[in-house]
Amino acid sequence: TRQWILANKPTDLPVFSGPNATFKLETKDLPPLKDGQVLIQAIHLSNDPAQRGWIDKHVDPARLYVPPVQVGDIMRASAVCKVVASKAPKLKEGDLIQGFTGWAEFAVVDADTLNPIPGTDKISPTHALGALGLTGLTAWYGMVHVVGTKKEDAVVISGAAGATGQIAVQIAKNVIGCRKVIGIAGGTDKCKFVESIGADVCLDYKSGSFQDDVSKAVKEAGGAEVYFDNVGGQILDQMLSLLNRHGRVAACGAISDYNSSEKNAIRNYFEVISNRLEIKGFIIFDMYTRGLADEGLKALTDAAISGKIKLGEKSETIVKVPFEKVPETWMMLFEGGNWGKLVTTLE
Ligand code: NDP
Repeated sequence: TRQWILANKPTDLPVFSGPNATFKLETKDLPPLKDGQVLIQAIHLSNDPAQRGWIDKHVDPARLYVPPVQVGDIMRASAVCKVVASKAPKLKEGDLIQGFTGWAEFAVVDADTLNPIPGTDKISPTHALGALGLTGLTAWYGMVHVVGTKKEDAVVISGAAGATGQIAVQIAKNVIGCRKVIGIAGGTDKCKFVESIGADVCLDYKSGSFQDDVSKAVKEAGGAEVYFDNVGGQILDQMLSLLNRHGRVAACGAISDYNSSEKNAIRNYFEVISNRLEIKGFIIFDMYTRGLADEGLKALTDAAISGKIKLGEKSETIVKVPFEKVPETWMMLFEGGNWGKLVTTLE
């Protein structure tokens, strides 16, 4: 099988050629199947900003929430795969599963580490990586459990056209019924889309007038109680100055900092103290350890069936490429090249 191996840990933007190339393509033999194992073929790969943190050169393993990927390891990734051969009673040839099987065309894995995807022609299996998978659950967990968003809250969501953000927008507006939902995304087309799925207004952070625009929109809403933060950096900094007293931040991600060894500094820190703000970081895996994942998945599925969460064409960006193009496709995340969940479908 072919596999993408971590070759050099990056400090800044990953590179794709030369002696410092971040990844290298290798061909390896697979071990024979043991009892309880299956041979899988990857069909759809999940692209996650978090993967950048797992390979960073300066990350302290003791401070990370999962073991970092080491040089020489297969690049870790979630995927939808087909079972090609099985020595496990719970899976048979042809079954679809989701698992952390990595950037590999084929792999031998323990069946117990895999989640079967129920066969349905109504919902594409790719949603098991996005709206009805870890990213949808991230939006649910952050919005509902981490900051306990209520109808009375005005909510601001950054990364609002992305996989997590667009589900967060729809949970806030269409499931919880928040009094005001303000999105933040890159570009007018993305902003129009975010408004079409329920945001009262969406602001383009790439526009020269963004700081004034967001300030005006939040003030017109009577301030905001909740900020669902996917990006960190300067937008978080400004949001600290716009949240109402006792406002809550669901600290989900900080993508504006992931590819830079020079991290953004927060200038408005005193706002946290002065206005008794709460900034709560969270990791989606906590939803499983707290036993909340099944309930969250059911709520998301019900919302998708009732139309409160839309699984339309912009809920995912499916890029069909040969295996050689897997790393470059992942990098589209950091260029804003995706609407909703960025999925690599292997040719
Ligand atoms: P997205 O689908 O949102 O894709 C990333 C998006 O981020 C891009 O489309 C782009 O949108 C935006 N972006 C890229 N660079 C920047 C930048 N410098 N500043 C502002 N926005 C930028 O990815 P996900 O939904 O998978 O992830 C969103 C966030 O949630 C990430 O920070 C991720 O790490 C975090 N996350 C956290 C989890 C947790 O357990 N805490 C679990 C899953 C995700 P645009 O065109 O609008 O710029």
